[in-house]
Amino acid sequence: MHDRQVRLATRAASEVQARSGFQRLVIGGPDQLVADVERHLHPYLRTIYHRRIDLGPGSGPDELRRAVDSAEAEIARALQSAAVDRLRDVVGRPDGRSGVAGLAPVLHALANHRVHRLLVSSGYEACGWRCPACATLATCGPTCPGCGQTMRVVDDVVSEAVDAAAAERARIDVCVGTADLDVLGGIGALLRY
Ligand SMILES: [Zn+2]
Repeated sequence: MHDRQVRLATRAASEVQARSGFQRLVIGGPDQLVADVERHLHPYLRTIYHRRIDLGPGSGPDELRRAVDSAEAEIARALQSAAVDRLRDVVGRPDGRSGVAGLAPVLHALANHRVHRLLVSSGYEACGWRCPACATLATCGPTCPGCGQTMRVVDDVVSEAVDAAAAERARIDVCVGTADLDVLGGIGALLRY
């Protein structure tokens, strides 16, 4: 019975992964059963296995949804915090070519189409400038550093920066509770080249 449950569970996990392409796996159930399922997982599933979740056989869909939501949020936070760590590393390098931190350097990198991944602290706002002619964003005005036209004041140049990064197809992370990013100025970017 136990072995059959383990087989069914590992096979179901592989089949659902093949069909849906989910990227991280969590498993809940009685401890011994989960331990054996973990041991018999397909090697690929083992590489994307996150952790056990606290669910028993009697758990309903709502409990399952809550447990998965909370695991997803935890995974997202871990990925963001890894990205912030990476930003801190590259910003400290002498060449300064792989990443920038702080509003003015990020806006400059955006104007040069170099932003690969934008990291912003949730709630961070700052007023700034936007050029109506060439859409350059800047912290200081009124003369556009890109084309020399007179820029206009914008209430929140940070949200303009997020829009500009999205238009460049950069990856955008709005980070919650990442004090390390706040220390770097609340905004930073990993650069394309
Ligand atoms: Zn301009």
